Amino acid sequence: KMADPDVVSPHKKQAVEGDSSLGSVVASHYNNIEEKGLRERSKSRIFYMRNSNNWIKSFLISYCLKQIRDRQVDGYPISVLDLGCGKGGDLLKWQKGNIQYLVCADIAETSVEQCKERYNRTKNRGRGNCFNAEFIVADCTKKRIKPLMENSKRQMDLVSCQFAFHYCFESLPQAETMLRNVSENLKKGGYFVATIPSAYEIMSRMKLSGGRKCGNEVYTIEFPESRSENPPLFGDRYNFFLEGVVDCPEFLVHPPTLQKLAKKWGLELLWCRKFDTVYQDALKDPDSQHLLNVMQALEQYPNRDEQATATEGEYSHAQEHLN
Ligand code: SAM
Repeated sequence: KMADPDVVSPHKKQAVEGDSSLGSVVASHYNNIEEKGLRERSKSRIFYMRNSNNWIKSFLISYCLKQIRDRQVDGYPISVLDLGCGKGGDLLKWQKGNIQYLVCADIAETSVEQCKERYNRTKNRGRGNCFNAEFIVADCTKKRIKPLMENSKRQMDLVSCQFAFHYCFESLPQAETMLRNVSENLKKGGYFVATIPSAYEIMSRMKLSGGRKCGNEVYTIEFPESRSENPPLFGDRYNFFLEGVVDCPEFLVHPPTLQKLAKKWGLELLWCRKFDTVYQDALKDPDSQHLLNVMQALEQYPNRDEQATATEGEYSHAQEHLN
């Protein structure tokens, strides 16, 4: 995070509850996902894909915590805000990362309850010191998290938003509110780390399929028939189906638009990689390779030649909206 931005967004006033946005559809989808045990998960056809997504998150989280620690004196307490925390899939990563405080926020009430239960179980198991935590149910694309926090003056070293940020690209006001939630809770010099589907990759797979739908036997991405030739930068909705896990509307995130908007909120882009690039780099490093093995994430990545290659060119129509 750079210097503090001018905080008042002209769009915020438009973000009212009870509008036609898809937040409640998304929340109810995630609320109704059953929690399956490891044994059940390991039978799934997407077991390795989930493990590799999990590995990516571990890699990013430990990378960011290292950056933060490298600049601090020993024992410096680290606070984190997890936006779209879900059922707490990253709690163990925060514990391993030895943070001191975690704020978890998500739109899905049942997921937040399960996250809290999971946290309590982790804490009660008492292996080493566990961080303190608080839990907030809120639509982070419409509500400011700061006033809902136990201590609204608390500033974070790291804001993390894993596989959840793209929901805010439903509209410009929602993206602004989400970025405000990132920015106003971060210390100057703090980090924001997020994972999102690659819009370029999706668009090039669409091109290869020659239609408005692409996928294979485990996943499908489908745009509505009504999608225009020049889709909007916000609200470019598709339905994402992933076997047994997701069946939900999502929104394409146009990277240059995100970068530009984030800059407005005081955030500077430091690092942006596709998952397979992160993975290929990790294979060259013995420590990362070990973690890939331990997390059973090695089977996931196919030969790069078989994958579609997408470029900014896929989005040339968007440039005119950007200025
Ligand atoms: N971050 C978690 C993880 O990596 O395990 C959960 C990821 S899950 C794919 C996406 C999460 O985003 C869900 O828990 C969902 O409820 C949450 N989410 C979606 N829209 C949201 C919104 N507007 N505000 C807060 N959370 C949201």
